[in-house]
Amino acid sequence: CGIVGVTGNDNAVEILLEGLQKLEYRGYDSAGIYVNDENGSDYLVKEKGRIADLKAAVGSEVHGTTGIGHTRWATHGVVSVDNAHPQVSQDHRFYLVHNGVIENFKELKAQYLSDVTFTSQTDTEVVVQLVDYFAKQGMPTKEAFLKTLSLLKGSSYAFLLMDSNDPETLYVAKNKSPLLIGLGDGCNVVCSDALAMLNVTHEFLELQDGEVVTITPNSVEILDREGNGVKRESFHVEMDA
Ligand code: GLU
Repeated sequence: CGIVGVTGNDNAVEILLEGLQKLEYRGYDSAGIYVNDENGSDYLVKEKGRIADLKAAVGSEVHGTTGIGHTRWATHGVVSVDNAHPQVSQDHRFYLVHNGVIENFKELKAQYLSDVTFTSQTDTEVVVQLVDYFAKQGMPTKEAFLKTLSLLKGSSYAFLLMDSNDPETLYVAKNKSPLLIGLGDGCNVVCSDALAMLNVTHEFLELQDGEVVTITPNSVEILDREGNGVKRESFHVEMDA
């Protein structure tokens, strides 16, 4: 339902939690964050209920410079901690948050992932397990993500993906579901609504359906459906947080 992400900021945890709180008005049933840092420590925290409950579950040890967060409005699978996002791949390498619905997730699961043990009932988990499946075949993460996206049929999605082996990079894609990139000072953010990130920046890039974006603290690379680089002007959002 709501998506936030940040890379290159020592206050990643606070930025994600504040961002999720700003998105509460959209309604949700559970929420979660995943953060990591360049020293290899990482944390996944998920809770049913309010953002206040998630905040209470985030211990003082939880810190990071890069991270993703989500408020879930369940469409596939009951409301539970396991079904909350971020969803995780088998060996805990990839973490994914998702807004929308994957129409053909059952077919994809049967075709590619019959050997994989699933830990949730969500359509979303199929996507993160597929990225892992293609990465295990030797594809770099961006390629594994593109390959996975090419298999999704009639789906609506906004995705934000992290590879725990590459702690500074966020991978983003969208189709029929809103997603913005925010340009910060030495950091960059992602959000499904600018409202979530006005404490960090007022400069945003809009994404088009089918685009795939790779984001680091100092760079934003947008590719169109054909894999061609896209130049996009930012726009200014004049509104108080
Ligand atoms: N279809 C996904 C799920 O049920 C995402 C729902 C959402 O947009 O929050 O977990």
